[in-house]
Amino acid sequence: MADLKDKIALISGGARGIGGAIADAMCAAGARVVISDLLDKEGEDKALELTSKGYQATFVKHDVTKETDWSNAILHCSDTYGGLDILVNNAGIYFNGPIEETSLEAWKQMFSVNVEGVFLGTKAAIPEIKKRSMKRESSGSIINLSSIAGLGGSPNHGAYTASKGAVRLFTKSTALECASLEYNIRANSIHPGVIDTLMGSQVVDTIIEQTGSGDNEARAQVSELHPLGRFGKPEEVAQTAVFLASDDSSFITGTELIVDGGITAK
Ligand code: NAD
Repeated sequence: MADLKDKIALISGGARGIGGAIADAMCAAGARVVISDLLDKEGEDKALELTSKGYQATFVKHDVTKETDWSNAILHCSDTYGGLDILVNNAGIYFNGPIEETSLEAWKQMFSVNVEGVFLGTKAAIPEIKKRSMKRESSGSIINLSSIAGLGGSPNHGAYTASKGAVRLFTKSTALECASLEYNIRANSIHPGVIDTLMGSQVVDTIIEQTGSGDNEARAQVSELHPLGRFGKPEEVAQTAVFLASDDSSFITGTELIVDGGITAK
């Protein structure tokens, strides 16, 4: 199992879903974890759940679209645990709909959270990660949650695919900019298929709305999209994040790891 002992991680959107599973897995791998999220009750509960298991975890309330919230979250990492090694830009939103019916306001909201949030997080985290990673053997790691929707187009997903495509290429630019020993920070993106979280349920709800099928039928349709015949589990994405955060992936930067049960192999 990958080892994150002595590493400090900040996970945006870590109160639930994939981010929550990443918090679990990084704690289990030995990291000290700061969970950040808009949802303070869920975030506090998640941190409490982890500390009650003997792990080191705290929560900070955080809106990823706000630059000052990022400064505060990074400060929380250094004040609480003494620095930062791993940033997981996980917070994200999803909606779908035809381009003709997508308002500029909705498009901007998608980009504000999914793209500007990743930019602001990366910008705020690099100086803090660099303090610990530069000229050391063990690199810092930035992990961005893109999607299979960031690898190709999809009808009725113009705003979401554009935002996740932007995350994919921003990750590669980050990787190239931060590869030198002056930084020693790796950056990679993860591209999940449909994962069984609240966001995954939004995909199911859309099928129900569009086809009038029942919940079980719609879930079966989503399962069948994946050659492995099921939704992905948040834990399966989380293990990928642990790998990318750990020294097991020490020569991997600027890449995209697809966790999609085979969808994009078709
Ligand atoms: P989720 O909706 O279950 O959880 C997202 C979390 O992000 C929530 O806790 C939410 O409060 C938080 N968040 C949203 N906006 C925020 C903001 N402005 N500031 C701080 N926190 C905010 O979603 P999930 O399924 O866990 O998705 C996590 C990431 O994985 C997202 O970036 C998503 O796009 C990506 N992803 C998900 C799927 C999927 O099928 N679930 C597939 C591909 C990619």
